[in-house]
Amino acid sequence: MIRFYNTLSGKTEEFKPLRPGQVGLYTCGPTVYDYPHIGNYRAYIFEDILKRFLIFSGFKMTHVMNITDVDDKTIKGANVLGLSLNDYTKKYIEAFFEDLKVLRILPADYYPRATEHIEDMVRMVRGLLDKGYAYLKDGSVYFSLIRFPDYGKLSKINKEELKAGARVESDEYEKESVYDFVLWKKARPGEPCWETELGPGRPGWHIECSAMSTRYLGPTFDIHCGGIDNIFPHHENEIAQSEAYYGQKFVNYWLHCHHLVVDGEKMSKSKGNFYTLRDLLARKIDPVDLRYFLLSTHYRKMLNFTFDNLEQAKASRQRIIDFVYVLQHQPLPETSQTESASALVASALSNFQDSLADDLNISAALAALFEFIREINSRLARNELSRQAADQVLTAIYQMDKVLAVLPEKKEEELPAEILKKIEQREQARREKNFALADSIRQELLQQGIVLEDTREGVRWKKIN
Ligand code: AMP
Ligand code: ZN
Repeated sequence: MIRFYNTLSGKTEEFKPLRPGQVGLYTCGPTVYDYPHIGNYRAYIFEDILKRFLIFSGFKMTHVMNITDVDDKTIKGANVLGLSLNDYTKKYIEAFFEDLKVLRILPADYYPRATEHIEDMVRMVRGLLDKGYAYLKDGSVYFSLIRFPDYGKLSKINKEELKAGARVESDEYEKESVYDFVLWKKARPGEPCWETELGPGRPGWHIECSAMSTRYLGPTFDIHCGGIDNIFPHHENEIAQSEAYYGQKFVNYWLHCHHLVVDGEKMSKSKGNFYTLRDLLARKIDPVDLRYFLLSTHYRKMLNFTFDNLEQAKASRQRIIDFVYVLQHQPLPETSQTESASALVASALSNFQDSLADDLNISAALAALFEFIREINSRLARNELSRQAADQVLTAIYQMDKVLAVLPEKKEEELPAEILKKIEQREQARREKNFALADSIRQELLQQGIVLEDTREGVRWKKIN
C-alpha cells in the first residue's frame, strides 16, 4: 500500500488513483524570468523521486509541468532589457531544460507554456464570470472569495482576515492579503497583452495553472505538487478557480516539499541567498552529488544548504559507486558454499520499496540500501559471494537506482571472459601462496594492457595503452 501525506486533509492517506494503474501528475514549473536556483531544484527533484517511485511501483504516469512565461516577473525582466517576452524567456527556458538533463530529472509528458494557452484561460475566466464567481472592475477580472465558501481548505487560512471586496493585483502576496485575486489583468502601457473577448489584457498567474493542468489531465486528477510556498495563495487559488468553474473536485492529493534553506532562511532570489546550478558547476561540483544531496532528506523536512552537507552527500553516494565497482570487477568464485543471496536481495528490495511507499521515506529507503551494502561487503570479505550472487546484487542495486538515479551512467567497459578468468587464476594462486605463478599472471596481463591493483576490497583492474 502506498501512502502520502495530503496537505488538503492534513493526514497521511492511502494513495488510490482515479484510474487503476495510471496517475495524472501536475507540478508547478518554473517562472522563466531568470535561472532557477537550487532551492527550486529541491522541489523538482522531490517530484522526480515521487514520479520515479510510482513508475517503479508499476504505474503509468502522465506528468504535466507548466512553464510560466508571462507573469509580473517575466514582464518586468523583459521590459528592463527592452526585449519581447519571448526573446527574454527563451534563454531561461533552454537553460531549464539543460538543467533537468544534468540533474537526471525525467522529462514530463507535456510542458505547456502559458503564452500558448491564453484561449484556455479566457474560456475559464469567461465561465467564472457567467457563473457569478468573478466580476469585472476597471477592465480587470477578479475572483470573488465570498462566492466560494470552500476557500481556505488547503492552506487553512484564517478567513476572518477575508476582507470582502478588497482586491489584490499582484501575482504573489502574503497571508495578510486574503483578498479577491485577479484572474485577468487589463492591458497597461508597456505590457504585453492579448485581444480577447474579455478585452485587451493578460492572465493572472494563478489561472494559468488551473487552465493548463485541467487541459491536459481533465477537471479532476490525482496529484498536484509544489513547494510549501505555493500552498498560499497559488494552490488555494487554483482550487477556487478550478472547482468553481468545473463544479467538481480539482485534485485528490496535494504534496508539498519543504524548503531548501540557508542559515534558516528560505533560499530565494529576493533574499539573494541562492546558488544556481551553474554557480555550483563552476565550482566543479558534480550535479549528481547535488541530486543526491537534495533527495536524501525527507521531502517534508527543511533542508539546510552548506558545502559541508554537500560533501557528506558526495561521500555517501561514493560508497554506493565503490560498492558497485567492486562487485562488477572483483573476480569471484563461480559458486559459493553459503546460501544464495536471493533472500537478502529480496528483503533489501522490499525494505527499499516499503520505505518509499510510506510517504516517500527516503531516509529509511537509503538505510535499507546501505544495510544491504554492509551485509554483502561482509560476505565478500569472508569470500562467500559467488559471481552469480554478485550479479543478482548488482541487478537489485540498479533497480533501486531507477528511483534514485545516482549511479554513474556509463557502464565500465567489460573485460573479455578469458582475461577475467586469468584474474581469478591469479587470485587463486595468491590464496595458495603460489606467488611466482601470481606474479607471472600479473606480468602476462600487463603485456595485454591490464594493470592489477590489490586493494582492501579486493583486486581492481585498469586498462592502459
Ligand atoms: P517559482 O519559479 O518561484 O514559481 O518556483 C518553482 C518551484 O520551486 C515551486 O514549486 C516552488 O515552491 C519551489 N521553490 C522555490 N524556492 C524553494 C526553496 N528554497 N526550496 C524548495 N522549493 C522551492
Ligand atoms: Zn502553478
